[in-house]
Amino acid sequence: MNYDIQKIRSWFPVLEQKIYNRPLIYLDSAASSQKPLQVLMKEDELYKSFYGNIHRAAHFMADKTTLEFEAVRTQVQKFINAKSRDEIIFTKGTTDSINLVAHSFGERYLNEDDEIIVSEMEHHSNIVPWQLIAGRKRAKIVKLPFTETGEIEFDVFQKLISPKTKLVAIAHVSNVLGTINKIEEIIKIAHKNNVPVLIDGAQAIQHIPINVQKLDVDFYAFSAHKMYGPNGVGILYGKEKWLNEMPPYQGGGEMISEVTFEKTTFNDIPYKFEAGTPNITSVISFGAAINVIEEIGLNKIAAWEQKIMHYTTIKLKEIPNLKIYGEASEKSGVISFNIDKIHPYDIGALLDKMGIAVRTGTHCASPVMQHFNIHGTVRVSFGMYTSIEDINSFIEALKKVVNMLKT
Ligand code: PLP
Repeated sequence: MNYDIQKIRSWFPVLEQKIYNRPLIYLDSAASSQKPLQVLMKEDELYKSFYGNIHRAAHFMADKTTLEFEAVRTQVQKFINAKSRDEIIFTKGTTDSINLVAHSFGERYLNEDDEIIVSEMEHHSNIVPWQLIAGRKRAKIVKLPFTETGEIEFDVFQKLISPKTKLVAIAHVSNVLGTINKIEEIIKIAHKNNVPVLIDGAQAIQHIPINVQKLDVDFYAFSAHKMYGPNGVGILYGKEKWLNEMPPYQGGGEMISEVTFEKTTFNDIPYKFEAGTPNITSVISFGAAINVIEEIGLNKIAAWEQKIMHYTTIKLKEIPNLKIYGEASEKSGVISFNIDKIHPYDIGALLDKMGIAVRTGTHCASPVMQHFNIHGTVRVSFGMYTSIEDINSFIEALKKVVNMLKT
C-alpha cells in the first residue's frame, strides 16, 4: 500500500520525544490525537499576522479573520457532505454538541413519558445530557443493549422503538469496544418509525469517511481535537429542518437579530446556536487539520489503521490470559483488554515508565464496564501516525510488564 508513514510522522514533531529516556510510543489517540506542524503553523500565522474578532468590525483584520473562519465552515460542510453550510454549528466539542441537541431538541419536542433510546456502549457524554433533559421533562431513557461481541441487534432495537420514542442516540464507533455500529440500518429503522437519530461521531470522523446526506442522519457530533485539530472546537451537524425549529441553546452576542428590553428576535442558523465569541483560532487551525487528512486521503488512513489494528489484535492474542473486550466483525481505532489477575492501572503505569502512553480506566463509559462486570480496561488506540514499530515496542513492553506483575 502506498502510505508514507515516515513522511506523515515527520509532521508530528512531538513523536520524536523521549519520555523517561525512552522513545515515546503514543497509543492514546482516541483520547486526543497529536497535532501536525500544519495546524501549529496556522495558529502561529493567525496570531502573528491578522487576528481580529469575527463577524463584527468593519476593518481588515476582523474581515480577514471572519473570511478564514467561515471558510472552515464550508470545509467541514464538504468534508461530511452536508447539504448546506448553515447545517454546520461550531461548538466546544462532541460533549457540547450533544448537550446542545439534548437541551434544545428536548426543550421543543420532549414531553412527560416520552422515551429516548440510548445504547449501552455510549460515552458518558451521550448519556448524561439525555438524563438531565429527561429529568426536567419527566421523560425516560431506554437502554439499547449490546451483545457479548459488542454489537447492536436490530431485532432488539426494533422491539424498543415505539410511538413514545422521540430520539435515538448512539455512537458511530464505540470508544471502548471499537465496534463500528451499523448506523445506516439504525437510521433506516428509526426513520421508518418517524424517529430522528443523533450519532456521536467522536471516534468515527477521524477513521471513516462520513456522508451525512447519504446516511440521512439528523444530527452528527464530533470533536476537532480527536482529528489532529486543536482543543476546544467541535461540530454539530444538524438537518436544517430541525435546527430551524429548535430554540437557541445559549443567549448572547451574534445569536440575535434584534434585542430590546421587551423582546429579542434570533439570528438564522447556524448563528442562532453560536452565542458569544467562538474559539476563533482553533476553528481556523482546525481547517489545517482537515487539509492534512484530505491530503493523505481518509480512505488511505482508514486502510492503514485497519492493518495496524489487525496486527495488534493478533499480537495481543498471543499473550496468555489476555481478554479483548469488543470483537465485533467491524472495528476501528481502539482495542481494550485486560490480563487475568493484573490490574489495568498497573499495566498502564509500568508501560508509561517505558515511554508507552496507553489509557486505563473506564474510558468515561461506565455502563460498558458494568456490562462486563469489570472496573476498567487497558485501551490502546491508533492514529494516522501509528507504525508497526510502535506496536512491536508496545507488545514487547507489555510482555515484560506481564512477567514483572505475574504472581
Ligand atoms: N463520545 C465519544 C465516543 C468519545 O470517545 C468522547 C471522548 O473521548 C466523547 C464523546 C467526548 O468528546 P469531547 O471530550 O471531545 O467532548
